[in-house]
Amino acid sequence: MAAKQHDLIVIGSGPGGYVAAIRAAQLGMNVACVEKERQLGGTCLRVGCIPSKALLESSELFHQVSHELAPHGIKTGSVEFDLAAMLKRKDKVVTILTRGIDGLFKKNGVTRYLGHGRLERAGRVVVVGEDGETVLDAPRILIATGSNSAPLSGVELDGERVGTSTEALSYREVPQHLIVIGAGYIGLELGSVWKRLGAKVTVLEYLDRILPGTDAELADEALKIFRKQGLEFHLGARVTGARAEGDGCIVEWEAGDPLTCDRVLLAVGRVPNTDGLGLDAVGIETDDKGRIPVDERFKTSADGVYAIGDVIRGPMLAHKAEEEGIACVELLATGYGHINYDAVPGVAYTMPEIAGVGKTEDALQQAGVPYRKGVFPFMANGRARALGQVEGRVKVLAHEETDRLLGVHIIGPRAGDLIAEAAVAIEFGASSEDLGRSVHAHPTLPEAIKEAALAAFRAPIHI
Ligand code: NAD
Repeated sequence: MAAKQHDLIVIGSGPGGYVAAIRAAQLGMNVACVEKERQLGGTCLRVGCIPSKALLESSELFHQVSHELAPHGIKTGSVEFDLAAMLKRKDKVVTILTRGIDGLFKKNGVTRYLGHGRLERAGRVVVVGEDGETVLDAPRILIATGSNSAPLSGVELDGERVGTSTEALSYREVPQHLIVIGAGYIGLELGSVWKRLGAKVTVLEYLDRILPGTDAELADEALKIFRKQGLEFHLGARVTGARAEGDGCIVEWEAGDPLTCDRVLLAVGRVPNTDGLGLDAVGIETDDKGRIPVDERFKTSADGVYAIGDVIRGPMLAHKAEEEGIACVELLATGYGHINYDAVPGVAYTMPEIAGVGKTEDALQQAGVPYRKGVFPFMANGRARALGQVEGRVKVLAHEETDRLLGVHIIGPRAGDLIAEAAVAIEFGASSEDLGRSVHAHPTLPEAIKEAALAAFRAPIHI
């Protein structure tokens, strides 16, 4: 069978892969994108970011209508939800967005191959699909195969009662008691969804804090808020086993007696996905975490083979993968490409949201960097008051001598949207004075960022 010729073969159609494929096509390349799932979009669109945000939105609306309308003078009768309809809406959101990528591929002339892609040698990918094998040749191959849920020794996943985020996005009934293993992004977001819909939720976290990697002070504040919302936490709780037993599940952990529940969500991180990818065939060796080593131009040890996203070093975030994908193909096409790892925001879409960009305060302390800190609470922000969402605050960290912004961390309403301003400011090398002197519309939530910046370089006005 004659090989099909392309300029670039992208393996994987997650946010890293599909965005890279489109950008490469815009730059004039004849691009193939290989994806084993029928729906394009990868974990993020199919079983990750998008469906979880759809459920977070629906469950938060239910919570607000049930508990937060009375202070606005709005009376409701008894409020109910229809879980099947909620799940259907979530699936529809996913379908619309994944079909959107099909449309973008067509518009940009990206050829999609359905099947599992395997490197046969440098320059060649074999696609194994339902109808047999297709051979693709290209001088450049980009691996964007993402990651899978990390397993945990002793935890027996059964794809139903003891499962990962994939199962927790589609429970047909609200669990009576959900035990979440791991207080990272996934555990807190999906734990919040099921708590709002009526489940008892217990989170077991190995560390003595939640949300590792986020600013410790804000994570501490988040923990207090989540406890107030009724989520139960055991910190310093290393889980050693979990399995379905009888009608329920048993979870074993080091610091206490085994716990029983009816659903277990394992959320202890993710591992790079290089299964059956044929890395041996091109001489690529993964590192101790299973990641593909790359240089600053995303080139692997094999000629013409590149890798981006969750399968390489750095945070496993959709937007980091996207920017790497764009940088990688722009470097290939033009010699120039850019991603600033100091300006990659992270967001937990809980209520309130938690978002950060740049260095955390703990990281600055550890590195001995002299800094000034400005904090502003949403309690003193007019718009937050009007919204009735006054929990949380903004923290701005700037260099003691140069005033350059080093980090911005937010817990509060729409923190995930607010952080974009800080990411742009850091990208442009702004100082806290730049941010504090920029005109912000009144009354808006971003004024809290301006005030925190004022607090870092001078003094805030409204507190
Ligand atoms: P995570 O790395 O964010 O958190 C995993 C948690 O599990 C950690 O706190 C860890 O200490 C804990 N843990 C590990 N072993 C344990 C044990 N034996 N017992 C108890 N706790 C244990 O991982 P995640 O929440 O699974 O998310 C996976 C990846 O997906 C992350 O890299 C994250 O960046 C990404 N993600 C991002 C978002 C977002 O941006 N909103 C949402 C979901 C997932």
